[in-house]
Amino acid sequence: MKNEYIGIDAGGTLSKIVYTINGKCHYKKMSTADIASLNTWMKQSFKQPDIHITGGKAGAFLHESEFINARRINEFEATCEGVKWLLENNSLLKDTGPNFMVTNVGTGTSIHYIKGNSYERIGGSGMGGGTLLGLSYLLTGEDDYDTILKLGNNGNGRLLNLTVSDIYSHEKPPISGDLTASNFGNLMQMKQEKLSKEDYISSVVRMIGETITTMSVQAAERLNTDSIVYIGSTFARHDVLKNIISGYTELRGKKAYFIEHGEYSGAIGAILNTGLQKTVQ
Ligand code: ADP
Ligand code: MG
Repeated sequence: MKNEYIGIDAGGTLSKIVYTINGKCHYKKMSTADIASLNTWMKQSFKQPDIHITGGKAGAFLHESEFINARRINEFEATCEGVKWLLENNSLLKDTGPNFMVTNVGTGTSIHYIKGNSYERIGGSGMGGGTLLGLSYLLTGEDDYDTILKLGNNGNGRLLNLTVSDIYSHEKPPISGDLTASNFGNLMQMKQEKLSKEDYISSVVRMIGETITTMSVQAAERLNTDSIVYIGSTFARHDVLKNIISGYTELRGKKAYFIEHGEYSGAIGAILNTGLQKTVQ
C-alpha cells in the first residue's frame, strides 16, 4: 500500500511542496530556479511517491525529472480547493461564509471567487511579489529577499506619495484626505530630500498592498461578498504588507483573512484534488 503523497505547486519563483508520510503533513519551499535540487531531494526522500503537481512551472519540472508519472492538476482549481481545505481546518469557513474572494499574491497576482463548491478566476494583475523584488532592486541595488524584507519593514512608505489632502491643498477634500492620491507621485519630496533604501522599499510595499487591496475590494463588491482571503508566499513573513492590506481592506468595508500555510494552497489542493466545479456564467 502506498503511504507517500506529494503535492507540488511549482510557481514562477518558489516551489511549494506538501507531503504526507504515514499520514503526517509536512511543508517545504524551494527555489523554482533550482529544479535540479528539488528532483534530487525527492529521489533521496521518497521510494514510490504518488505525486500531484500544479503551477506554471509544472511542465518544466516534469521535463527535467524522472517522476514522469506525476499527475498534472489545474492550478486555479488546486489553489481554490487548498484554500477551502485550510479554512475548514482552521475553523474559518464559518467566518468567511461559503462565498468569498481569494487573492493569490505570488510572483504576480491572481484573483478568484469561490462560491460554495464552484470557483471562478476573476482577474489578476502583474503587480505582485515579483514587482516587490524587481522594483526594490532597481531603486536600491538590493537583490537578497531577506534584506529587501528587512529594509521594507523599516522605512516610511508614505513619504514618496501624494495624498488626497496634498492635492486638495486649499479646500476640504471630497474623500478622506489621508488616502493615497498617487503612489510615488511626490516628485518635489524626491528632489528635495535624500531618501533611504528603507523608504524606497517601504514605498514599493505600500504601492503593491494598496493596489492589490483596491482590485480585491472592487471584485468583492461586484460579487457581493465581504470576505477576502489573501494567500501567496509574498505574505509569508511580511507583516507590514499584511497590515497595509488588512487595514485598507477594512477601511473599504471588507474583511481580510490570512491563513497559516496559505501559500501552500496550490500544493494542498493538488494532493486533495477532489475537483471543484468551474463556474460558467
Ligand atoms: P509563485 O507561485 O509565482 O512562485 P509565490 O506565492 O511562491 O509565487 O510567491 C513568490 C513571492 O514570494 C516572491 O516574488 C517574493 O516576493 C516572495 N518570497 C517569499 N519568500 C521568498 C524567498 N525565500 N525567495 C524569494 N522570494 C520570496
Ligand atoms: Mg503561485
